[in-house]
Amino acid sequence: MTRRYDPRRARSHLNYTRAELARLFSVGLATICAWKRNGLQPMDGSRPYLFAGADVRQFLEKHNKPRQRLEPGQIYCVACKQAMEPLNGVATYAPLSDTLGNLIGTCANCGRRVWRRVRNSELLEKAGKLKIQYEGDAATLSSDGEPLHTEPSDEVSS
Ligand SMILES: [Zn+2]
Repeated sequence: MTRRYDPRRARSHLNYTRAELARLFSVGLATICAWKRNGLQPMDGSRPYLFAGADVRQFLEKHNKPRQRLEPGQIYCVACKQAMEPLNGVATYAPLSDTLGNLIGTCANCGRRVWRRVRNSELLEKAGKLKIQYEGDAATLSSDGEPLHTEPSDEVSS
């Protein structure tokens, strides 16, 4: 499967038609047909097909795309659907709270912003070989080495 579906959406004690499943998981009927081809068994002899919620759960738990484990220094790009080292091996750490923050980089494939949630305490471990810049550093650079933001000058000419 190319996506992850939350198996818990299917109630174990309920039965679903194809249309109901499609609505439940916000997919097309074709997807439900593909699930059936891939081994999701309808209940015996039911026409139109009925799928037992418990079977649907089991099927999804088995067939869901596994979560990709990120290696140190990797960030997952949602657009490219893969983990990779951000461009130039550089990431910016943007704190969200005292204990948590985002490592933000640029996808080396598509140039989009990519980020990874990390705890402060794990930052160095998760960042691996990445060069880390801290948000607010004057020296924050964009991918081509140009300053990303120019700080507004405090001096106002009058
Ligand atoms: Zn990308």
